[in-house]
Amino acid sequence: MTAKTFRGGAHPPEQKDRSSGLAVERLRDVKQVVIPVNQHFGAPLQPLVKVGDYVKRGQKIADADGRMTVPVHASLAGIVKKIEPRTQSNNLDGPCIIIEAKQPEPVDGVVESTDDFMPPLDPFVCSKEEALARIRAAGIVGMGGAGFPTHVKLAPSKPISYVIANGAECEPYLTIDERTMIERPEDVVEGVAITMKIVNAPEGIIAVEENKMHAIPLLEKAIASSPRTRAGMKIRVQLLKTKYPQGGEKMLITAITGKEVPSGGLPMDVGCVVQNIGTLCAMVEAFRDGKPLIERGLTITGGACTKPANVIAPIGTPVADIIAAGLTAVDDEALRRIIYGGPMMGVAVPNYAIPVQKNTSGVLFMNEEEAVHYEEETCIRCGRCMRACPIRISPALLAVSVETGDYKEAEKIGLLDCIECGSCSFVCPAHRHLVQKFRVGKQILRTIKQKEAQNAR
Ligand code: SF4
Ligand code: SF4
Repeated sequence: MTAKTFRGGAHPPEQKDRSSGLAVERLRDVKQVVIPVNQHFGAPLQPLVKVGDYVKRGQKIADADGRMTVPVHASLAGIVKKIEPRTQSNNLDGPCIIIEAKQPEPVDGVVESTDDFMPPLDPFVCSKEEALARIRAAGIVGMGGAGFPTHVKLAPSKPISYVIANGAECEPYLTIDERTMIERPEDVVEGVAITMKIVNAPEGIIAVEENKMHAIPLLEKAIASSPRTRAGMKIRVQLLKTKYPQGGEKMLITAITGKEVPSGGLPMDVGCVVQNIGTLCAMVEAFRDGKPLIERGLTITGGACTKPANVIAPIGTPVADIIAAGLTAVDDEALRRIIYGGPMMGVAVPNYAIPVQKNTSGVLFMNEEEAVHYEEETCIRCGRCMRACPIRISPALLAVSVETGDYKEAEKIGLLDCIECGSCSFVCPAHRHLVQKFRVGKQILRTIKQKEAQNAR
């Protein structure tokens, strides 16, 4: 099988060996969860519970009207202790519902179930509208990135040719997708088939980087034995070169189909839907078991992590409690930085009391060597950043526009197309803080454009 790829990119040290061989362990007997009310890309939710309420596992606890919303559910049964702002994995304070575990009192000697799941639903029999409603009701969002609502992604306004399962997992250190493909290949294949059915796509492709070759025979076996492929659905594995950011939606689509998502466009513009591996498994559970998205897998690792792990934890579990349970461990003396997410696109946070969220793919405990901070030097115009940029803009020129506040020029060069992958910063010999400038610059440019739009009304 020939490995495909995209132009540009970088090769940061993979650092996956620490956790790639470790089976996923489930965290049990969680005492308390801190569930952020807003974990998705879209309009804010309102809590549906109040302090003192008893909630079951899987019960909806926050929701709102509107297409760009997905409900949030209790990830354990217990009492709502507080509803208050707490620091979230994006390092911002936001409203959280704090639930303390409690078993219900027996009635006539019988303890009723503490789960509140939906009835199973067959996605291959129900209508598209019913399937999308189930995905929303289960609170499913893209679990690899910004938390985009999955029911919106799966209602494209254009015909879809390919469903692509994103098994690239190109961020260094992270191995939870790799472990999921190894341990649950049947669910990955079933998730692709469900997505194909919903968006009416003729082909499903599971994209895997070369550094995860050992997952391929397992996926191929699951494809061959799937009742969906036996009934005629076309699903295959595609090998990709190991390169960062191979798992970016646009890079994945270009590598596999040769098509380029236009500037400002979406995958559906070139007939593609890309799904995260964890999201596919969450969809399978939502249909098969009626289970909402109340837990997720994540990798905990890094140079200051003395017990790396791949873990399934209830949404809202403070990472400190995963440590307390002994599933992972950290050397506090060696610890210099904590990152929620991967090292290239993750967010540095002040402590590990911050809870696991729907989009927390990993937590990194970084030591001195990994967390080294370089002072910026003057650009030497070497062009390395330009060669590394997967969307082929000139990061050096873009940085000048952002630094001088020339946002018209920055937009022209492609500021809003920047996917914030950090490849340019990684390869820059002058240690220019390029991606950091672009993150801030994008926010400023969006604010400017919003104001312009308001004034034009
Ligand atoms: S300019 Fe943006 S997209 Fe290009 S390499 Fe830098 S961070 Fe990545
Ligand atoms: S890689 Fe760094 S030094 Fe080289 S051109 Fe880009 S910004 Fe300048």
